[in-house]
Amino acid sequence: MKICVLPGDGIGPEITAQAVRVLDALRSDGLPIETEEGRIGGCAVDADGVPLPEATLTLAQQSDAVLLGAVGGPQWDNLPREQRPERGLLGIRKSLQLFANLRPAILYPELANASTLKPEVVAGLDIMIVRELTGDIYFGQPRGIEERDGETVGYNTMIYSEAEIRRIARVAFDIAMKRDRRLCSVDKMNVLECTQLWRDVVTDVAKEFPEVELSHMLVDNAAMQLVRNPKQFDVMVTGNMFGDILSDEASMLTGSIGMLPSASLDANNKGMYEPSHGSAPDIAGKGLANPLATILSAAMMLRYTFGNEAAAARIESAVKKVLADGLRTADIYEAGTRKVGTAAMGDAVLAAL
Ligand code: NAD
Repeated sequence: MKICVLPGDGIGPEITAQAVRVLDALRSDGLPIETEEGRIGGCAVDADGVPLPEATLTLAQQSDAVLLGAVGGPQWDNLPREQRPERGLLGIRKSLQLFANLRPAILYPELANASTLKPEVVAGLDIMIVRELTGDIYFGQPRGIEERDGETVGYNTMIYSEAEIRRIARVAFDIAMKRDRRLCSVDKMNVLECTQLWRDVVTDVAKEFPEVELSHMLVDNAAMQLVRNPKQFDVMVTGNMFGDILSDEASMLTGSIGMLPSASLDANNKGMYEPSHGSAPDIAGKGLANPLATILSAAMMLRYTFGNEAAAARIESAVKKVLADGLRTADIYEAGTRKVGTAAMGDAVLAAL
């Protein structure tokens, strides 16, 4: 189990350190885990001049899975676009062909009050959002900012091939088969031809999965329904841009983005695992960050890349126990619970493990 660890920027190093402690503990218990660190994002720009150094990409390619913290920060925001930390992230996703992004939004009963929605609307929430990650308007050509008829215009291209839609749809149907067998595909077919194709292809793939109930929803309605009645959803599948926005929205239903892991998979279940949040520069270096999303990302890694359900479940149970014991980092703190920092939260998870 060769794991490439990329701590990145901001709170990245603090939170990945806690997840690595959990992996170390599993190694002591007999799992053949090897970890090796590399640089990505702003720290790589500073040290190597580029956000994704060749050495990092090679390390990631030679590993079975990647555990990433987060990248970015205000000190790199004014660099030319190609040198920005986020480019490193887009680059590694593209190079490793990580086309399927899995983002669960689960509300732990202990945290029902952390949501801004009424507890009865969100209690027991368990959604999986499957987002296509390597296509769409984020990568489409042509793109740019240029002069046209004496005016500056900016433009991008929304584009999906049938094959790209087919493979992400299959991932989503497969996941739905392991859950409640309901899949909602999100598009904007009333306005965008690209997403008309999306709807047609997803509908066609559905024939391979007769046991899954497929529905379609326009993205504006989906954004509204996620707030109105989120528990109607089991698995949702959508393109890169809509998925970017909807998965952040879904994550906030749960009250803390600091709790939510994510996985990005290639066609062979090699994956990159990272928390859903960013580098949180506002709290970086203060020992305040919630490491649970990163620890839960390590659990997803054991489940999806290494097929070790028992080890994944063991980490998830340890996290549940720590929450049940009343420990909270500042982002999920409420009166009557015990506020702890990043390292103390890691200590507690290790003890529960
Ligand atoms: P963010 O997710 O970093 O932070 C949003 C808010 O949530 C902040 O108040 C932050 O303190 C809080 N937060 C986030 N993670 C937390 C945690 N684990 N524990 C406690 N609180 C937490 O989003 P942002 O502020 O929009 O972006 C900050 C930087 O991160 C930017 O440079 C952005 O480009 C980058 N970013 C990186 C990724 C990534 O690496 N995958 C994703 C999103 C944003």
